[in-house]
Amino acid sequence: ETKGHTPPNPAHLQDRLAEEQAPLPEYTEIPAFINEPDTNPALEANQRWAEQAMARATPEWLATQPVPDTVTEADIDPLVERARAAAADWAARPAAERARILYRAADILAARRGHLISLAAAEVGKSVAQTDPEVSEAIDFARYYAHSALELERVDNARFTPDALVLVTPPWNFPLAIPFGGTVAALAAGAAVIHKPSNPTPHCSMALLEALWEAGVPREVLHGVYPFEGEAGKKLVSHDGIDRVILTGASETAALFRSWKPQMRINAETSGKNALIVTPAADRDLAVADLVNSAFGHAGQKCSAASLGILVGSVYSSERFRRQLVDAAKSLVVDWPTNLSATVGPLTEDPSEKLHRALTTLEPGESWLLEPQQLDETGKLWSPGIKTGVKPGSFFHLTEVFGPVLGLMEAKNLDEAIALQNQVDYGLTGGIHSLEVAEVSQWLEQVEVGNAYVNRGITGAIVQRQSFGGWKQSSVGLGSKAGGPNYVMLFGQWSDEVSIT
Ligand code: GLU
Repeated sequence: ETKGHTPPNPAHLQDRLAEEQAPLPEYTEIPAFINEPDTNPALEANQRWAEQAMARATPEWLATQPVPDTVTEADIDPLVERARAAAADWAARPAAERARILYRAADILAARRGHLISLAAAEVGKSVAQTDPEVSEAIDFARYYAHSALELERVDNARFTPDALVLVTPPWNFPLAIPFGGTVAALAAGAAVIHKPSNPTPHCSMALLEALWEAGVPREVLHGVYPFEGEAGKKLVSHDGIDRVILTGASETAALFRSWKPQMRINAETSGKNALIVTPAADRDLAVADLVNSAFGHAGQKCSAASLGILVGSVYSSERFRRQLVDAAKSLVVDWPTNLSATVGPLTEDPSEKLHRALTTLEPGESWLLEPQQLDETGKLWSPGIKTGVKPGSFFHLTEVFGPVLGLMEAKNLDEAIALQNQVDYGLTGGIHSLEVAEVSQWLEQVEVGNAYVNRGITGAIVQRQSFGGWKQSSVGLGSKAGGPNYVMLFGQWSDEVSIT
């Protein structure tokens, strides 16, 4: 049931070129939450729109786009002071006002979808197919958290005092959805924000900040800082005036932050080594497609990516299953984003030592079903690799590599498969393909992951429908998940009024 307003981009009207020129909607009340539809690539108008977005995304064009201010160590104290001073007025505004501003920011992103897609392609080589749902997710975060703000205000008997100042430090692999999500969650709660983009993606971050400023978030409430010079980063992260740090990144980064400030309030989503189990009771065709898409989408550079396929019994020994997996992986288009069919793009950074090892080396017992190939001079474009015979406790079983390599492991039965899945230190996403209800129930009861997916891929969590966050080493102080009902209430303190009358 919707109220008050028709959503700005109903899927049946979708023509992105036309939509981006249409006036923004005005709200009399906050509409019900609806997930923003992704672009329909079958429409000819949208193909032209995507071609334009990719044609624009050159390094020369990127250099003309703004980035946040450079800060030095000397700038940090005044910056923190200014932001904290602005927080009280922001927190005191009615939630409905903050919610309206966030809805407006979401509409601005919707109107600039093509521009945002160009920025992500130019900065990190992310394809249209991979970035388009990310823009939808960013839009969803703003609207969803706007509703969370309204709900917080309605809580009875308990008082919520938002953090004054939150530092948001996002990753580069989702340069739109994650930076925006953390920022709008803090703003929804009533906190001021300092946003520090990941090193490769300052232009994406700046476009997000500009949308928020234009929508009505005061400049003094929301700051972007980039890059750091000298000790400025450390000084900011460990500053006493920062009430909370939101981090999505490597667990090493979370550990480093906490070594700088042990009493830090940090909510971090940190790394994954995710497995999808396929049992003999699976729909194997579906399992093949989901494994391949989850392993190789965005060249495996997702915390949520499937890095392991744990194949139970006859699935592991099935020649046919292996052949289908290899055929499916070979059919993926590996290319730079100017090729609109590409879903496996370049690596954003040069392969880390771990990834290089995974791409080029076999550990004892392993063999290539599909050996990854370096496809061009840059060293960044790699075709998908599938290794089989990954041994329990081995390097590839336990190490996050963050790239286009899938390892297959053998399990005798479901118990063993779950034990292998839970043996990793991380616990972000995981999946099972089985049409046997008893197997699925056992797995759901025993698997140690934040996002447990049944009979589907293990990437692409959708706001409200699948809130996102991990267990074990995949999370530091998280407690509640992004895009879910309890996220915004993280950004503050609660006091209960207890009186005896
Ligand atoms: N939320 C993304 C997904 O569900 C993953 C985010 C990440 O890689 O950190 O695929």
